[in-house]
Amino acid sequence: MRFELNHNQGIDSDSKRKEKLVLRKNRIIFFSGGRASFVVADFVKKSYPDDNILLYFTDTLWESPDTYRFIKECSDKLKLPLLIHSAGITPMQLMFEKKLVFNNMIGDCSKLLKMRVASDYLKKQIKPKVERWLNHQFLKQADFIKDATLYFGIGIEELHREEAIARNWRPFRVEMPLIDNMIRIDNVLKEYNIMEPELYKLGFAHNNCNGRCVKAGQGHYRNLKKTMPEIFQKHMEEEYHLYMCVSAYRYILDKSVPDENQIPSHLQEEMLQELDDAYRGYFYGKCTKPKLYIHPAASASTRYMKIKKYSFMKRKGKNPEVSQLEDNEHLYTNVRNPSEPFTLREFALLENSKPEQIDLFDIGGCGCFVQF
Ligand code: SF4
Repeated sequence: MRFELNHNQGIDSDSKRKEKLVLRKNRIIFFSGGRASFVVADFVKKSYPDDNILLYFTDTLWESPDTYRFIKECSDKLKLPLLIHSAGITPMQLMFEKKLVFNNMIGDCSKLLKMRVASDYLKKQIKPKVERWLNHQFLKQADFIKDATLYFGIGIEELHREEAIARNWRPFRVEMPLIDNMIRIDNVLKEYNIMEPELYKLGFAHNNCNGRCVKAGQGHYRNLKKTMPEIFQKHMEEEYHLYMCVSAYRYILDKSVPDENQIPSHLQEEMLQELDDAYRGYFYGKCTKPKLYIHPAASASTRYMKIKKYSFMKRKGKNPEVSQLEDNEHLYTNVRNPSEPFTLREFALLENSKPEQIDLFDIGGCGCFVQF
């Protein structure tokens, strides 16, 4: 039997082999569940349809159920793989573990639960506690990290942050298509027939942590109270229990009081264990209330023994501290108006009785609002 070589067949299989050898460029989109990051994903997909594009979502485990609907729908309709990573702990649990009540001045939930998780994975290949894939079949090559370009959904209003973000993510190349291409984010969701995240419809500026951002301000919390009263109520209770827990913890370990009022170290360990037993189940969702716990300051008799208050929000202090500073030639008057804790419980009372005193323009600032 004669066997004839078909030259065209040879060329075809050659080019197929070569095609297989061509490495596709890796592109990772920091996908936050917000509109802007979706628009970036769409832009990258349309610009580089043949490349290896990944949607990457870092989960605080505290998101709105609708956010998970949204990110899944985006992944399905864009036909892009979605990788979800999480440190396995919520911002509230993080505060409990650190014995710290975060607010817009302190606290690193966005850094530890989002940035750190992402950078440990992408720079050091350290996998976090939780990993989940959606639409893994759309991944075009297994190594999606090598020489990847990272994309952020940051708009022109955050132009000043561009440089710092690019520096933090070296050696990766960073791009921000919303800034570089002046893309308007309207209409893209309509094009895919995707319903926008519920939180935007409720008037929130961002789709983070189900509206419970601990770094948010009065205007934001007013909207939460109005549009999701049950979430506000639960958040208010959690803030109260957290502040009592943190206050008790600090009290037990307080070194700033005179020696005779300090709790002896042999008792501290026992008291800290008792505190942990009282609150751990509550903050990890095992029970609806903490166990009965009496703050040790409640039975103390000296002026040092106080239950200190902590809160997510702050407001300007009523009693400015006035002091006089003197150098060789001048006497200065120094007025400080330190901010005071403003608990959600106090906020709710004020909102009910004197709503005109709420600062609607104070929506607060949060790393997550602008990081991804
Ligand atoms: S949205 Fe607020 S509470 Fe949630 S992780 Fe970011 S900073 Fe923390």
